Amino acid sequence: MSNIAQRPDFKAKYDNYIGGKFVAPINGNYFDVVSPIDGKVFTQAAHSSKEDLEMAVDSAHKAFETWGKTSVTERSILLNKIAQVLEDNLAYLAAVEAVDNGKPIRETTYADMPLAIDHFRYFAGVIRAEESSIAELDANTVSIALSEPLGVIAQIIPWNFPILMAVWKLAPALAAGNTVVLKPAESTPISIMVMMELIGDLLPPGVVNIVNGFGSELGRALVTNKKVAKAAFTGSTTTGRLVMQYATENIIPVTLELGGKSPNIFMKSVADHDDDFFDKAIEGAVLFALNQGEICTCPSRLLVHEDIYDKFIARVIERTEAIVAGNPLDMATMIGAQASLVQKEKIMSYIKLGKEEGAEVLTGGDENVFDGDHVGGYYIKPTIFKGHNKMRIFQEEIFGPVLAVTTFKTTEEAIAIANDTMYGLGAGVWTRDAHEIYQVPRAVQAGRVWVNQYHSYPAGAPFGGYKQSGIGRENHKMMLGHYRQTKNMLISYDKKKL
Ligand code: NAD
Repeated sequence: MSNIAQRPDFKAKYDNYIGGKFVAPINGNYFDVVSPIDGKVFTQAAHSSKEDLEMAVDSAHKAFETWGKTSVTERSILLNKIAQVLEDNLAYLAAVEAVDNGKPIRETTYADMPLAIDHFRYFAGVIRAEESSIAELDANTVSIALSEPLGVIAQIIPWNFPILMAVWKLAPALAAGNTVVLKPAESTPISIMVMMELIGDLLPPGVVNIVNGFGSELGRALVTNKKVAKAAFTGSTTTGRLVMQYATENIIPVTLELGGKSPNIFMKSVADHDDDFFDKAIEGAVLFALNQGEICTCPSRLLVHEDIYDKFIARVIERTEAIVAGNPLDMATMIGAQASLVQKEKIMSYIKLGKEEGAEVLTGGDENVFDGDHVGGYYIKPTIFKGHNKMRIFQEEIFGPVLAVTTFKTTEEAIAIANDTMYGLGAGVWTRDAHEIYQVPRAVQAGRVWVNQYHSYPAGAPFGGYKQSGIGRENHKMMLGHYRQTKNMLISYDKKKL
């Protein structure tokens, strides 16, 4: 029996979602949407203008008048209903996401969608358990601190996990009582619209609005709209810097989840025995190719103790060459297509640069060409370079299945190399040594350090960046604090005059 999922049917074009309805862009313009699987146009999305954005912000602003006053119980019930509808349609959405983004359906089925569903359930749960605070400051004075939603939130997301990134933003914003205008990335606008077809009717009109179009045309107008109370952005550090500048116009808060160049450090004790732990560590090193390397926390720098390098790297190369590449709709495929032609070309230019810089290609180093029904797609072979940390391929975010490997002699040297980057999003530390298990992650400057594992994103574990990798912590109830403001009522019960 074929293990290849059927391509879902798509409409000829997708409108915006504003005020609880699918609405054509005012200028009537649409842009082509290409599937990275075969490089062919499969539908069109609204090429919105600032007028569409304004309509969406107005709609969110009006909806906030009632949504902002709903009880946590109401909001929790609704988030759970959304989760249920997503779960009921998991296989369909997983296939849609694979066509839109080019990622393997086994990932969308077993990671993207379950994580998105659980995210709604997590925030549905945590808001029920929250309490406000009351303090008696003296016998006649009481301070009540309450959390209030901010209002209309502008959310801008990238293309590497379209549904999951949308949900990471939507769930906490809605849980906190805000309304939203979200702009998907222009290379992957469709899966979010399909998700809205399924969940839109559950939400009161105007609570969630989706406007498609180009960030360069819409980003500033959205973030500087006077009715927007906060901006939440995930994308590159360069664009994040712009979003932060826009936010200064009306002095609104921003949260940013930005780029990374994450080190994955393998200490000497990893290779002490040829056992399950050693096998697990090899798998952890090969995770640079997960999601075609298009993950902000991609462990793209491999730091290996020099005493174990030969043994370790031989296994990593062997395992990398065994990664099954191919049609993203095939359940057996482990690495699919890069999300766009632009992204594929950017990665190929970095592979060329690595060779020019004198880094040694240990495996890969080329694109991958297929025939059959995924001919013409954007495929690259997982590539491993050996070099040093001053090379550009070690310093710049490639956002593809490209690993830069170097060695270290001492723990201090490993930490120095790990921290020699402007980024501080993710990191991995692998060791059997109890001292190192605690001390090395403490010394690495990153918001998330995985220890003896990598690439897990459970709701409940705060996720976000140090340094130029961002501001804020998603995936955790502390994100609610970024979507709210505190109202303090300071009450005097004193009958005496002042
Ligand atoms: P990008 O910054 O080019 O685009 C992200 C989004 O910003 C898109 O929706 C785009 O339309 C919009 N945009 C573009 N120009 C804009 C502008 N001037 N104003 C406002 N919005 C604008 O990033 P990308 O290349 O699409 O995404 C990849 C990047 O995202 C990588 O750097 C990656 O590390 C980062 N990322 C980070 C996380 C995280 O959680 N830290 C998660 C996923 C991706």
